[in-house]
Amino acid sequence: MTPIDEDKSPGIERLYLDFDSFFASAEQHFNPSLRGRPVGVVPLDSPHTSCIAVSREAKARGVKSGFSVRAARQVIPDMVFVLARHDVYVRLHKRILAVIDTILPVAQVRSIDEMVCALLPEEARQGEALALRIKAGLAEAFSPGLTCSIGMAPTELLAKIGAEMNKPDGIALIRSAELPERLAGLDLAALPGISKGMQARLAAAGVADFTALWRLAPKQARAIWGSVEGERFWNGLHGHPSERPEAAKSMFGHSRNLPRDWRTPDRVAACARQLALSAARRLRREGLRATRLTLSLRGDGPRDGGGQAWSWEGAFPPARDDRTFLRSLAEGLSAARREARFAPRAVGVVIHGLKAEREITGDLFGGAVGPGGEDDATRAKWERVSELLDGLRRTHGAKALSFGLQEDIPGGYVGAKIAFGRIPEEEDFTETPVADGDTRFLSH
Ligand SMILES: [Mg+2]
Repeated sequence: MTPIDEDKSPGIERLYLDFDSFFASAEQHFNPSLRGRPVGVVPLDSPHTSCIAVSREAKARGVKSGFSVRAARQVIPDMVFVLARHDVYVRLHKRILAVIDTILPVAQVRSIDEMVCALLPEEARQGEALALRIKAGLAEAFSPGLTCSIGMAPTELLAKIGAEMNKPDGIALIRSAELPERLAGLDLAALPGISKGMQARLAAAGVADFTALWRLAPKQARAIWGSVEGERFWNGLHGHPSERPEAAKSMFGHSRNLPRDWRTPDRVAACARQLALSAARRLRREGLRATRLTLSLRGDGPRDGGGQAWSWEGAFPPARDDRTFLRSLAEGLSAARREARFAPRAVGVVIHGLKAEREITGDLFGGAVGPGGEDDATRAKWERVSELLDGLRRTHGAKALSFGLQEDIPGGYVGAKIAFGRIPEEEDFTETPVADGDTRFLSH
């Protein structure tokens, strides 16, 4: 295939991660004695309950998620059953997000064990090597059994299909040019969004296999689905992203709610630094510079009006290096120590006033003096340091260097705005927290 041909088909734009047998793998990760064994995760300590997840070893021997304990024991007499510990899985989920985020920002969390990343062209060009780097980062941070399957494709739908194709621990790259042949053997029931009911409607319309589904016109898909959802599915399948590319970013920022023991000035500062560094990494990934940094603190009371709130904004010449942002933040933090007369319950950092590289002319950049009073050459040096650190993080994983102390901050993962729709926060669990290694076995 020539590069010109390649340009004609939509490129790889999405990377989908789906963790393999997640709850069971989590239990094996936290309890090494379970590794390599057939494990079933059950919701209740009862002999009449059913598995909500089973390990890959159990799957290989014919036991699936949904099997009752009794049915599973008939197939695998020595199967081990453990009680689900959802708070432990949520904590692990957040640590996983933090690790992936050091390699590639997570755009959306789809469930506790599925997430999607949007790829820049140079990331897409890395192909499988990018997926392998994510897997290596996870293997380094966790244990070999906690694997994911990765799909890369022009759309999220195709990437999700790809993630299903080579489970467990698989990688699949799907290009538009390979369709429909590449997926012709797939059972319609295996496609995301095709329920039993939808299968019946497709069958009634004469669509019994993937190729027939592929050949539908968008209008026909809309008619069969009975909504615009059909057209969305058609677009996803044919490699046309239906959502328009994101509007140009106007800011990068994060905020964190602070637990009671995190409301001291030192810990607020540590948290703000991590938020600033994460925003700065995203800024550099998008090839942008920023001219402003806003630090905000929120205390008791309602968010809109009447509550305690304080914010500060710093300005600097167009910058993309951690040192500029951290120096500006340090000014903001000393202002906060002087002025904010309340214990903050939340802290936020936003980097904004963005400029694209091409907007920065010699005039604009030259002669301007940064917060530390240094010149262009000094700033250029610090930019190279920041880029070097980004590169180290990407290749050496989560434990790589960063400016100053790296602390685990409240909420763990510092990422894009995520709708944790189906994922409860740890605070939502009212029972006493369960320790990671405290496996609970079925007693029956
Ligand atoms: Mg999964």
